Amino acid sequence: MRVIGLTGGIGSGKSTVARLFAEQGVPVIDTDEIAHALSTPPSPALAQIAQTFGPEFLSEDGSLDRVRMRQHVYAEPTAKKKLEAIFHPRIKDTAIQMLDALPEQTPYAILAVPLLFETGNYNQIIDRSLIVDCSIELQIARVQARNGLSQHEIEAIIASQCPRKARIELADDIILNETTLAHLQSTVSALHQRYQD
Ligand code: ATP
Repeated sequence: MRVIGLTGGIGSGKSTVARLFAEQGVPVIDTDEIAHALSTPPSPALAQIAQTFGPEFLSEDGSLDRVRMRQHVYAEPTAKKKLEAIFHPRIKDTAIQMLDALPEQTPYAILAVPLLFETGNYNQIIDRSLIVDCSIELQIARVQARNGLSQHEIEAIIASQCPRKARIELADDIILNETTLAHLQSTVSALHQRYQD
């Protein structure tokens, strides 16, 4: 079975592309969803958070206090590394287990990793990388339409991610998502045919 690593900048259309592959019957494993599941109590990752950062970083229901953790990570540069050291290996292990559990005859699976190129964690696991690409202006417009972030905040997130040009250079396959959803759907269908062969 081949593993296609799916990535792209914020608002590029990764989740939409992942959904379109899933609609074709392709198994999609999403590391964001794994991270979310690992932050839902009870979980060993949360126990380690309490041990490393203190129990005050968990809410009353035992879940991660995201606002407090975000503020801490912002104020304390080493905290981000510690947090990643707790989550990243667990996310990767879970993704590998999920891939291993797929039926043997599965031609290929999509592994959605928002920061595929930024972390380099999945280089040994994926056979090809697929990026969803669009202009920065479109990224900003889409994210603004979805939530209330300011242009400045979105630009800061874009600046923290792999630059567009570098991402395009690193990609094996590119979906240009700058027009309609119908066009995106036909692009995904064509790739699906290719990946099955
Ligand atoms: P994030 O990194 O923030 O999770 P993403 O890359 O997963 O974003 P999506 O959530 O798939 O991006 O898309 C961002 C928004 O843009 C969504 O509201 C989606 O419906 C919309 N969108 C994506 N592609 C298109 C398109 N071709 N036409 C119209 N709307 C689109």
